[in-house]
Amino acid sequence: MPGLVIVGAQWGDEGKGKVVDLLAEQAEVVIRFQGGNNAGHTIVRERETYKFHLVPSGILYPGKICAVGNGVVVDPKVLTEELDGLRRRGVDVSGLRISANAHLIMPYHLLLDHAGESRLGKLQIGTTRRGIGPCYADKAARLGIRMQDLLDEKILRQKIYAAMEPKRQTLRPFAKDPVLDLHTMTEEYRTLGHRLEPYIADTAPIVWDALDRGNLVVFEGAQGTMLDIDHGTYPFVTSSNPVAGAACVGAGVGPKDIDEVWGVAKAYATRVGAGPFPTELEEETGRRLREVGREFGTTTGRERRTGWLDLVALRYAVRVNGLTGVAITKLDVLTGIDPINVAVRYLGPEGASFDTFPYHQSILHKSVGDYVELPGWEENISQARSLDDLPANAQAYLDFISEQLGVPVVMVGVGPARDEMLWTGAAERLRPAAA
Ligand code: GDP
Repeated sequence: MPGLVIVGAQWGDEGKGKVVDLLAEQAEVVIRFQGGNNAGHTIVRERETYKFHLVPSGILYPGKICAVGNGVVVDPKVLTEELDGLRRRGVDVSGLRISANAHLIMPYHLLLDHAGESRLGKLQIGTTRRGIGPCYADKAARLGIRMQDLLDEKILRQKIYAAMEPKRQTLRPFAKDPVLDLHTMTEEYRTLGHRLEPYIADTAPIVWDALDRGNLVVFEGAQGTMLDIDHGTYPFVTSSNPVAGAACVGAGVGPKDIDEVWGVAKAYATRVGAGPFPTELEEETGRRLREVGREFGTTTGRERRTGWLDLVALRYAVRVNGLTGVAITKLDVLTGIDPINVAVRYLGPEGASFDTFPYHQSILHKSVGDYVELPGWEENISQARSLDDLPANAQAYLDFISEQLGVPVVMVGVGPARDEMLWTGAAERLRPAAA
């Protein structure tokens, strides 16, 4: 399976980082295809915790080619800081490649993101305020500035001027802010460009060559399906497409280059920021999931909303992404909860019930999960290394999910550490020797 896409099947934070990190060992290339530094991944290696915001998780393998694709938006300040941090910890970052066509987050994007959210008041989307939305907006408006522009001072200055001009009105409150000075900004970004130059590359041919050799390429998605700008719970979504189809656009390959698509889902559900969440739990069980599952954002530290597993949304994710497998993470967090609820349909307004994900915002906002109760388990499962090691009720929980989704479970997380993962079915071939 040379082309393997890994996407979030829920609202992000599903544990994609760990899944990609494990698969990366067998890969020739790992490439991110969308999002920006709003996608925090946490990876635990030999008791050391690494938090990634922009760099693909595979970077912990010395020399592994880790690419930031054209579909990603890059804040060069955040990237250079992340690289400095990794170098200080002795991580070899020589395998990093950044697409020359990736768009840059500029100081005015950050200001616009703040201003936009503040203006919305109670209607806030809950963006991470890292300038990602305004950056994608400029890309669509053809006012974007790309990695390659950092390498030519004259072009850079012209493009910054052209991009700021139409924003003058909105940026007026910040008119005196020195970060908006054309000269200062050009200088600063030129300096960042010098530092990043060794990593700037034409990333698509790197991917093509690996695929042509029949080697594994992992396309690493950020956020999750329900946050997709087209297919998620608009407008409470991210400004890019986290679904699998975007792997083609954001890395520069065709649909036929993709052999498998695995969705990562927690054994329960979480969501950050505002927007509909039909299986949300607000009482004791919700708090327990947050505490035991450590549900606080990697990038922002924000408390995550928690809820029961939502199979209506997951079935939708199977279809929208064309999932061929599902990786269930954090099964251990459910240990000791009995019974466990799983939503198999939604109950909407006026007694309506929905087996499929409702497209209409007003209906979705008023929908709540209709649950099936499944028996829980008490045993500590973190030592399990195969499905057979799991208590019968945990196995039955996974079987129920797989049956409802119509796709096999390929990996199961039983703890945050690297070896706390079960590999089954198609994933077995990709299991690292040490796992
Ligand atoms: P991502 O953005 O999808 O990679 O998700 P995050 O990194 O934000 O969140 C995943 C968190 O869950 C990290 O802190 C991981 O160390 C942790 N984690 C991943 N898999 C498991 C698991 O199976 N069990 C437990 N308890 N924690 C896990």
